[in-house]
Amino acid sequence: MQLAKRVQTLTPSTTLAITAKAKALKDSGHNVIGLGAGEPDFNTPTYIVDEAKKAMYEGLTRYTPSSGILPLREAIARKLLKDQGIDYGADQVVVTTGAKHALYSLFQVLLNPGDEVIVPTPYWVSYPEQIKLAEGVPVFVTGEQENQYKLTKDQLEATITEKTRAVIINSPSNPTGMMYTEEELLALGEVCIKHNIIIVSDEIYEKLIYTDTPHVSIASLSEQLKKQTVIINGVSKSHAMTGWRIGYAVGRKTIIKAMTNLCSHSTSNPTTISQYAALAAYNHDEEEIHAMVESFNERLNYMYDLLIKLPGVTCIKPQGAFYLFPNVKQAMDMCGFKDVDEFSTALLEEEQVAVIPGTGFGAPENIRLSYVIKKEQLQEAIMRMSRFIERHA
Ligand code: PLP
Repeated sequence: MQLAKRVQTLTPSTTLAITAKAKALKDSGHNVIGLGAGEPDFNTPTYIVDEAKKAMYEGLTRYTPSSGILPLREAIARKLLKDQGIDYGADQVVVTTGAKHALYSLFQVLLNPGDEVIVPTPYWVSYPEQIKLAEGVPVFVTGEQENQYKLTKDQLEATITEKTRAVIINSPSNPTGMMYTEEELLALGEVCIKHNIIIVSDEIYEKLIYTDTPHVSIASLSEQLKKQTVIINGVSKSHAMTGWRIGYAVGRKTIIKAMTNLCSHSTSNPTTISQYAALAAYNHDEEEIHAMVESFNERLNYMYDLLIKLPGVTCIKPQGAFYLFPNVKQAMDMCGFKDVDEFSTALLEEEQVAVIPGTGFGAPENIRLSYVIKKEQLQEAIMRMSRFIERHA
C-alpha cells in the first residue's frame, strides 16, 4: 500500500531503534546497561500525584478549553514573570500534549511549503522531522566543539535567506548540555530582529542546570525579543513528569491562537487530569526539583571524570540537561569502526552498553550518554567501554 509522501521521508528515531535493540537483549537475559534514557529516574513528586488523584475523584475528567485550563495558563504566566521577569497574559499561553506537540503545532502554524528553519547542529532528533512534516526545510548549521557546539551570530547571519522563517535555540541543549550566555543570546537576537525571524526557544531543560550561571530566556532580553520569540517548555523534565504529557508554548497572541485552533482539531485538549497535575507542580515550591538536580549533578561529575579518561574520547563538560555528548572519533578510528552507528551497535552487542549514536543528532563523531541511572551502573558502563576500546584498539 502506498502511504502519504510526508511519512515516506520521515527518518525513524535512532534513539528508539537502539532502545528497542537494548530491550530485546535485556528480555533475552543479558545484563544491559542503558545510557539512552531521555527522562529523570525519579518518580513524579507525591504532591503532584495527589492533586491528580483528587482531580479525578472530583470529576475533573472532562474536556477542557483547547488552550488548557485557565488556572494552569495563569500559573505558567506567573512562573515566567517570577523566573524570567517576562510579563505574559494567560491568552499568550497554549498548553499542549508535551513540549513535543507544542513544537509540532508551532511549525504547522508558522511554515508554508519551502520555508526554512535554521537548526543548530547537534540538534534534538525531532526538530528536522517536525519541520519537514510542516513542509518546511531544516537548514543545518554545525556548531564547533571549540565553541561548545553553539550557533554564532556570524553563522546565523551567513545562513539566512529570504526564505528563513525561524531559528531554534535550545538552551540547555539536548544532546550537548550547553547553555547560551546572555551576550550570545543578545547577539543572535539582534540578527533575528534585523531579518524578522521567529526565535523558537526550547527551554525544556531550564531547571536542570549545574553551574552558577542561571538560565536566561532570550525572550527576557528586550520587548522586541519577547515579540520575536515563542518559548517552548513543560513539566516533563523539570518535575519528572514525562508520561503526563504536558508542555506549552508562550508568545504572540496571533501564533498562540492559531496553535490553539490547530490543537482543537487534533488533540482537543491535553489530558485534563495531567493539567491539574501540572498546576500542582507550578503551585508548589521547588524543593524536590532542587534535590533531583543535586542528584543529577553528583552523577554528572562522577561520570564525567571517568569518561574523559577513556582513550580516544573527548568531552566538553555539560552545564545542563542530563546527557554527556563525547566525541569518540579517535576511539572509533583506533578501533577500526567506520562510523558511530557501527561503534554503538558493537558496544551494545559485545558489552551490552546502550548508547545513542550521534548520527540522529547530526553529529556523526559523537555518542549521547544519559547519566540518570545508578552510580554503580555508571561505573560498570565505563569499565565495559574501556574494555571494549582496549580490545579493538
Ligand atoms: N525538546 C527537547 C530538547 C527534548 O529533549 C524533549 C524531550 O526529550 C522535548 C522537547 C519534548 O518534551 P516532552 O516530553 O514534554 O514532549
